[in-house]
Amino acid sequence: MTAKAGAYFTRAARLRCPVCGTKPIFPPAHAVRRPFDWFTPLDGCPRCGYAYEREPGYFLLAVWVIDCGFGSLLGAMIYLTLEFRADPPWFVLLPSIILPVLVFDVLFVRHAKALFMALDHLLDPHVKGGDDDRGNRPRDIRPWEPEPPECKPGPVEPCESPGRVR
Ligand SMILES: [Zn+2]
Repeated sequence: MTAKAGAYFTRAARLRCPVCGTKPIFPPAHAVRRPFDWFTPLDGCPRCGYAYEREPGYFLLAVWVIDCGFGSLLGAMIYLTLEFRADPPWFVLLPSIILPVLVFDVLFVRHAKALFMALDHLLDPHVKGGDDDRGNRPRDIRPWEPEPPECKPGPVEPCESPGRVR
């Protein structure tokens, strides 16, 4: 259990799939085109097929408890440090707390979601092939890369072509 937990949380710290640890959970920073891309994980792991978001609202706890929780701790530490060391006026104190916390929350949200996935995978492993696994197949795995070639239906040879001899 401890070794498993260590592996899962190490993968989460590297923003990698909690199951195989090789593929990324989020699009790389250079592929982020809009804010939505930064916050939203890919649908699943292209290597092992693990679906990252099990159900709608899956990451609510990750955002509101882990991300905002650590952000609040940071805000409290900044407040205590400033209040007892410098005692600035409120109009300096307030932005000095809020701005770093907002920046932290945006930068940490990916790790919060990855940590939540690691914890969830540790406590309630996602069984592939189960009835409630949404098929456990990613829909859109790597949107920043070209789609893999698919089998396109070509011209179908008629079953009974006129020249075919039976
Ligand atoms: Zn994987």
